[in-house]
Amino acid sequence: MLSRFTPRAGAFRETIPPDIQERLLDNAWCSHCSGMTTITDYSGTIENGDLILDGFCILCGNAVTRLIESEE
Ligand SMILES: [Zn+2]
Repeated sequence: MLSRFTPRAGAFRETIPPDIQERLLDNAWCSHCSGMTTITDYSGTIENGDLILDGFCILCGNAVTRLIESEE
């Protein structure tokens, strides 16, 4: 499965250690499941310096958004 990231979002992701990335992806809130889920089939964009992941709940397929704030 290929991830779709804008160049800026890809550069942002490069700064995040892989183990942290995995933890962030496993901590997305799904409103349909009313709980934490894993985001899958996501794309990445940058908004206001933060990384926005738009994807889907791995359990139910509901649209899920994960915001990853810039550390700086
Ligand atoms: Zn769900």
